[in-house]
Amino acid sequence: MFSRKSLSIFSTLRNYSSTTSKIQRVTLIPGDGIGPEIAESVKKVFSAVKAPIEWETVVVDANTGISKEVIESIKTNKIGLKGPISTPIGTGHQSLNLGLRKTFNLYANVRPCLSVPGHKTRYDDVNTVVIRENTEGEYSGIENQPVKGVAQSIKIITKEASTRIANYAFQYAMANGRKKVTCIHKANIMKQSDGLFVKSCREVSTRYPSVKYEELTIDNNCMQLVLNPAQLDVMVLPNLYGDIVSDLCAGLIGGLGLTPSGNIGDHGTAIFEAVHGTAPDIAGKNLANPTALILSSIMMLRHLGHFYEASLIENAVLNTLSEGKVKTKDLGGQSTCTEYTNELVRKI
Ligand code: NAD
Repeated sequence: MFSRKSLSIFSTLRNYSSTTSKIQRVTLIPGDGIGPEIAESVKKVFSAVKAPIEWETVVVDANTGISKEVIESIKTNKIGLKGPISTPIGTGHQSLNLGLRKTFNLYANVRPCLSVPGHKTRYDDVNTVVIRENTEGEYSGIENQPVKGVAQSIKIITKEASTRIANYAFQYAMANGRKKVTCIHKANIMKQSDGLFVKSCREVSTRYPSVKYEELTIDNNCMQLVLNPAQLDVMVLPNLYGDIVSDLCAGLIGGLGLTPSGNIGDHGTAIFEAVHGTAPDIAGKNLANPTALILSSIMMLRHLGHFYEASLIENAVLNTLSEGKVKTKDLGGQSTCTEYTNELVRKI
């Protein structure tokens, strides 16, 4: 029996519409590299649960940037599911991922990380959620070379964005039965920027007395995560630290194939995507693990109020991984992306 409002870790804060039989149109950006393979897998499991979703597939060209068509589609539908998109290193255009987050002001990046029963790693009790500020910090995109041989990237931290993400983290904690929010920072060195982030989180914490609040420097946070990840519940972090720490968390539970995310803005707008990239080393070989994108799509279903379909898919994923008979190579198995997807469909 599935409860209508699940407290699963694979949730967002904002379930902006109640469950409805009305078909919701969702912008699907398959992306490149392994993107199209794992997007196909999501489509198959959605068909299996008869999710009331109609896909509007739009193509993003990693070489040219975000087209008008993509912007218009997300503007209209408000919800997107996105495969990874490659970004050139050190040269070329701004990351398309950053561009989408900025265009739609998707200020909260929610990245849940859960030890999967049956998939053995050094830890079996990771159950933590990274809430990453998604619009500023080092990712503000303000970079220049004032003189030859010197480059600078400007880190922007504002009280407004820090307060907004802190509020999101506490409200997420309350809505999802979480006990503690930890603010991660390096305010002992970056006294102004990270100092403002901490001050904002501290102020917000006083409005949520039922949720425990603590602070950790980013370096200590990394050590604590490796020593005893179970002690971290909800973490709220500036942009860059959130990006790095969520990959660290992915490593604790068995890799990037298992970690989903949601980029959440106001008025229900959100884009869901796996934490991982395009995995060019395995692209086109039917070796990709689609779990992270499937878990992202589960977050999306809950965001839309489709709790029943979300739970059906989540159970199929967790049961399949727990059994361990059908798993992809990154998790030590032999199955292809297609075989794994077919097993999920069989279990639904
Ligand atoms: P990556 O996440 O693509 O790959 C890192 C390693 O993890 C590789 O060995 C890869 O095979 C493995 N891996 C990742 N996802 C997997 C999956 N689902 N199943 C099995 N194995 C998986 O990181 P990278 O190699 O640093 O980046 C490749 C490209 O992706 C770059 O252009 C980068 O900019 C881009 N990228 C995009 C996003 C995004 O679109 N949100 C995020 C991160 C990186």
